[in-house]
Amino acid sequence: MSRLTPEQRQEIAAQREAEHRTRRATVPALEEILYEPLPVLDHGFVRVVDYMGDDAAIVQAARVSYGRGTRKVSEDQGLINYLMRHRHTTPFEMCEIKYHVKLPIFVARQWIRHRTANVNEYSARYSILDKEFYVPAAEHLAVQATTNRQGRGAAIEEEAARRVLDVLRRDAEQAYAGYAELLNEDPSGAALDPAQPGLARELARINLTLGYYTQWYWKTDLHNLMHFLSLRADPHAQYEIRAYAEVMLGTLARWAPLAHAAFLEYRMNAATISATGLAVIRRLLAGEEVDQPSSGLSPREWRELMAILDQAPQR
Ligand SMILES: Cc1cc2nc3c(=O)[nH]c(=O)nc-3n(C[C@H](O)[C@H](O)[C@H](O)COP(=O)(O)OP(=O)(O)OC[C@H]3O[C@@H](n4cnc5c(N)ncnc54)[C@H](O)[C@@H]3O)c2cc1C
Repeated sequence: MSRLTPEQRQEIAAQREAEHRTRRATVPALEEILYEPLPVLDHGFVRVVDYMGDDAAIVQAARVSYGRGTRKVSEDQGLINYLMRHRHTTPFEMCEIKYHVKLPIFVARQWIRHRTANVNEYSARYSILDKEFYVPAAEHLAVQATTNRQGRGAAIEEEAARRVLDVLRRDAEQAYAGYAELLNEDPSGAALDPAQPGLARELARINLTLGYYTQWYWKTDLHNLMHFLSLRADPHAQYEIRAYAEVMLGTLARWAPLAHAAFLEYRMNAATISATGLAVIRRLLAGEEVDQPSSGLSPREWRELMAILDQAPQR
């Protein structure tokens, strides 16, 4: 099933055709993809539908200056790096971005925990949800992790994966068939059985499963966007929400490249290390042999510190 209907495609094309004269700052690289659905998972997408500000707005707010100034890009990068390093966060709040996101309900449940955004969700009390549910790609099927109780372990073999996918598809299809039966409506709105009542949409939807897709508009400022990305583009986040966060990281690179570079350097690829962890690093640098029992760290903290020291940077 396609991500967008022909009507939705037409609306987006019309929006992309229209141009507006403005005195406000615009960012050509972001304008290029404005309104365009960037595919995520099997039916989802992320679209940037509006934004305010750019790298210069961060600099301008930090300096409380009147215009864009005449400083060099390297000076702006230096200032933005300084702000990021020292968690001087409010200049980043001067920039805003608004996304339209289509996402499975179980991803939306994780996403909505981020309270510092404005959200407007598609109403399944008002409209009928499409028959679109998420089925993971076979390579993303894995067994329960044993080391981290909140994650996936080894990949599932081909034969078993096929069975898993069959169950997921079968149950989602069955749930939707029940939904349509309760609504007593076909896709054109005609009654399936004119002799039967149609249940209210707000009740019929409770039959659907967490894999069904919902949609929302999600608006936040750059500071909170980076907080969201630092948690959800992180390898510890569930793959499905990470897939969205990674696409959004790409939109950040287009929108505010200097802030994006500082974010990768001082947040995404940086680490917080405990006082005991730092003492371990100092001992290692001095050439001392250190192992977990002599480190003062718990086995888990030791593993985490070693993982940080081994970690390849994300670019
Ligand atoms: C890998 C991972 C695993 C997780 N596992 C679980 C889980 O098992 N169970 C579960 O329930 N959640 C879980 N979460 C969700 C997590 O606990 C947070 O609720 C979620 O990441 C949102 O983070 P946040 O509160 O920092 O973000 P936001 O809500 O965007 O808030 C941003 C910041 O604003 C401040 N803030 C916002 N609202 C308040 C407030 N009311 N009071 C004080 N400060 C506030 C805080 O400083 C906060 O960090 C998990 C998240 C991740 C990334």
